[in-house]
Amino acid sequence: MRMFRKIFLALLMAAGCALLGAPAQAQDSASTPIVLENPHYWLARPLKKAASLSAAVGYPYGWHRNHQSPIHHGVDFVNPQGTPVLAAADGTVYYAGSDQERLFGERANFYGNLVIIQHNLEAPEGGRIFTLYGHLSYVAVQSGERVRQGDRIGAVGATGIALGNHLHFEVRIGAAESYFAVRNPELWYAPLPGTGTLIGRLLNADGSKALGIRVTLAAPKRALYTFTYADPSVPRDPALDENFTLVDAPAGCYRLRVRGTALDVPVCLRAGQTVFVEARLP
Ligand SMILES: [Zn+2]
Repeated sequence: MRMFRKIFLALLMAAGCALLGAPAQAQDSASTPIVLENPHYWLARPLKKAASLSAAVGYPYGWHRNHQSPIHHGVDFVNPQGTPVLAAADGTVYYAGSDQERLFGERANFYGNLVIIQHNLEAPEGGRIFTLYGHLSYVAVQSGERVRQGDRIGAVGATGIALGNHLHFEVRIGAAESYFAVRNPELWYAPLPGTGTLIGRLLNADGSKALGIRVTLAAPKRALYTFTYADPSVPRDPALDENFTLVDAPAGCYRLRVRGTALDVPVCLRAGQTVFVEARLP
């Protein structure tokens, strides 16, 4: 039975890879957006009854806030102190405590009180999936403890290097303690009800990645924005090779634009849908 499950999972992952691997290089200024049929949304969001379930837009994964902050290795959920933080999937607590004497980030006392969970999940590219929860006001679990998805593991705080109360959330592949083993967490959980996710690859005219560019998804009555990864070293999903994500976009049709350029790509998102687009700056 266990063997069968393993084979089934392997087939499922292979199918997912094939679909995710679909995005190809476009020759002209913009390619047609494609719907990703099988994104790896294997995690739940790390908060449930919270003021904000969406990651803060001003400091997305891979961005450095105009050099005011280090390149972001995760996403931030801004919520009041004490908001329960939940395990994103089943697993075992790899670490719970402060990073005063053990390095998980750029320096000691970077994440403050943190929890790292080792999940029973293997990434499509290979490697165990870990999630990291930083700046907690307290931790509610111990190393080695088994947790189920949705279990409370701590609470939102501002310990370590944090500007105000928020949960810093990371996904790491293959190496729990490596600051550089991260992936964009927004590739790992589904859009909120009634919304969709846009995954994008923005290129310069010469085909290189456009770095640290503000990207807008504009509709007649609303506009969402994000920034492309600021540095070529920011880890990307190997199957997608993306350099930005825009999640929780209310279902509807938009224009993908970059201010000061003629880029203008129509993108429609249905509720629950994930769309991939590659766009090349003219
Ligand atoms: Zn953060």
